[in-house]
Amino acid sequence: MKSPLSLTLDKTGFVKNTRHLKSPNFSLRQPNVQIELIVIHAISMPPDQFGGSDIEKLFTNKLNFNDHPFYKTIENLKVSAHFLIKRTGELIQFVSCLNKAWHAGASHWREKTDCNEFSIGIELEGSDKTDFTELQYEHLNELIKLLCQHYPIKDILGHSDIAPDRKTDPGPNFNWNKIKKNR
Ligand SMILES: [Zn+2]
Repeated sequence: MKSPLSLTLDKTGFVKNTRHLKSPNFSLRQPNVQIELIVIHAISMPPDQFGGSDIEKLFTNKLNFNDHPFYKTIENLKVSAHFLIKRTGELIQFVSCLNKAWHAGASHWREKTDCNEFSIGIELEGSDKTDFTELQYEHLNELIKLLCQHYPIKDILGHSDIAPDRKTDPGPNFNWNKIKKNR
């Protein structure tokens, strides 16, 4: 790997040496819930445009919904993943892994619903129309490795796998063969 991040997780559920932009869009997990699932998403804001900071603004409730016609369709949406990996590979954390980030919405996995309760959500800056960058895959794999060291992760799935009627992300260009399942 060209740029190992040497990630470590602190006791508060935040990854050290990454950018933290704390989001209020989370709730407490139910007591004794095990984190068993990693959910991979893709997002671009505005759609199919990369490089700005509107994803970060959306996840921290700072987006101006007048800035783009698309934003009118999601006005006052309160969402956040735990992590975002930008096209450059930059890793940003919004919500502690100990908490329930609002990333998946109505969803199901095996016999359970509400996947936010027992999952970690990772967004990649991307869209259904574009390949992801090598740095995104490298840093995603490092993050997956770290999470698998700390939590009893049983599966790594896309948002479209747990909400197939509503969601297509991370989309057809996400290469699952590049994901190292450290289990
Ligand atoms: Zn998603």
